[in-house]
Amino acid sequence: MILFKKTNDLIKHLDNQRILGKKIGFVPTMGALHEGHLSLVRLSKAATDLTICSIFVNPTQFNDPADFEKYPITTDKDIALLLTAGCDLLFLPAVSEMYPEGIMGKPEYDLGDMETLLEGKFRPGHFQGVCQVVHQLLAQVNPHDLFLGQKDYQQCMVIDRLMQQTGFKETVKLHICPTLRETDGLAMSSRNRRLNDSDRKKAASIFRTLSYLKQQLHTGSLDALLQTASDQLEQEGFRTDYLVVADAASLQPVSTWDGSQKLVALVATFLGGVRLIDNLPLN
Ligand code: AMP
Repeated sequence: MILFKKTNDLIKHLDNQRILGKKIGFVPTMGALHEGHLSLVRLSKAATDLTICSIFVNPTQFNDPADFEKYPITTDKDIALLLTAGCDLLFLPAVSEMYPEGIMGKPEYDLGDMETLLEGKFRPGHFQGVCQVVHQLLAQVNPHDLFLGQKDYQQCMVIDRLMQQTGFKETVKLHICPTLRETDGLAMSSRNRRLNDSDRKKAASIFRTLSYLKQQLHTGSLDALLQTASDQLEQEGFRTDYLVVADAASLQPVSTWDGSQKLVALVATFLGGVRLIDNLPLN
């Protein structure tokens, strides 16, 4: 695996690979890697000739500075994991490399109601920061294929929108890849390692709650079902930002189901000060 820290070196190398006819697959991450990330690397390796992973904890997407400070950094272990997965290139830029003029003065992307719904509502400015860094990474890497995890359902929709607006949709194929889970159903996440043992066990209730919504889904009003599900979480000590059933394509909340609309359940909830998100397509 070749490690790049400087954008210019990376661009030169990738230009040469493109001239050689190599198809480039890209997996952007914030590090603290786990099997979920590695599954994206493996899917990229199966579909392309050259897989590049980036690790960059992007300061502009953290609406809570304390969350940024606490974000786990495990670079040596990440490199070892990427080697086992057979990743070809790693891009590990410093903040000064990505933002040579500082992190103030963000560009403004038109994200429509993605900015006010769900994550958009509870993490103001978060998706603008995500777009800022992904736009830049796409321009630097210029991949043929981009691999994102469905674990971040709304983020996938936002990046799809970004790609439409910036023209990358015409040159980059977006792959939305399945969520990898621990054996008790908890979605793998870099944040899970901040849970203490007792909260780690409790955290499996998030997937149980989503599965309950899927099993109990029925036509008509979903209000009582959602109330029971969020009461369950609250009784177990979760503090929930949202637990909703939404239209799978627009993310508008659905309170009455007609039996045909495609639905997804989405949740963001705090356990012991750690904010966890998950989702499950329902039908
Ligand atoms: P992150 O480092 O958390 O920003 O995630 C980097 C990429 O890995 C994003 O596309 C995530 O959606 C994806 N990802 C994170 N967790 C999982 C998981 N459990 N399964 C599959 N993909 C994931």
